Amino acid sequence: MKANATVIDNTFVGGASPTHFCKECGAMWRLWPNEGGWNLRSKECGKCCDNVPMGDQIEAMTHCFENGSLLQIGTSLGGGFFAGEMTVEGERFALVVAPKAEGEKMNIEYKLKDRSVYDGTDSDDDGVVNTGKMIDSNHPAAQFCNGLQVGGFDDWYLPSRDELMMLWRNLGPCRKNTPEQFREDAAEAFDTEWYWSSTEYARNSFYAWMVNFDIGLQHDYSKLTNCGVRAVRRFKI
Ligand SMILES: [Zn+2]
Repeated sequence: MKANATVIDNTFVGGASPTHFCKECGAMWRLWPNEGGWNLRSKECGKCCDNVPMGDQIEAMTHCFENGSLLQIGTSLGGGFFAGEMTVEGERFALVVAPKAEGEKMNIEYKLKDRSVYDGTDSDDDGVVNTGKMIDSNHPAAQFCNGLQVGGFDDWYLPSRDELMMLWRNLGPCRKNTPEQFREDAAEAFDTEWYWSSTEYARNSFYAWMVNFDIGLQHDYSKLTNCGVRAVRRFKI
């Protein structure tokens, strides 16, 4: 038997993310699996979905929506451009890539000295955690991203290896489905060069992962290598 989405608390609480939405009126709901209950997470309820069984017009919110439609890759969002969605530690995030003019820098090193010491930045997916371990002048790539103030946001970071690969898959300058403004030589396009990720090579502290934005190749290189950087930020969906 399907549980009904019923208003049990109509106080909007921003701290707990919605998990579902109403296809009819756009109202956002949260399912609390342990209690088997729902509550409204948007300020407005169109009343059409109160007491409607899950699955009839209440859908799981596993994607980023805008006015009821799937958000298109490359759409202006959160100080930059929507670059895709990912799951980190069971939480779902929208990834935002910074504008090229302010959020990109070429020829920058990952780490300048003490490269025999691991940075502990070996998360393949969590660029926030990785970057948080490198906020100092010995890590120019991470420091550049962390220091950005773009579009009213200051939570920019150096993308993890998985995030960087998603940027290439969705926005690579030579990819067939890349939106116009990210295609080769367009205003927001990545260069067809190597870009740093924040993920170090777990087997060798001297190396970290980078991605070639021409062909999507990943490789581990010396942290002293001069390479491109493009900042990202994320928010929960
Ligand atoms: Zn509704």
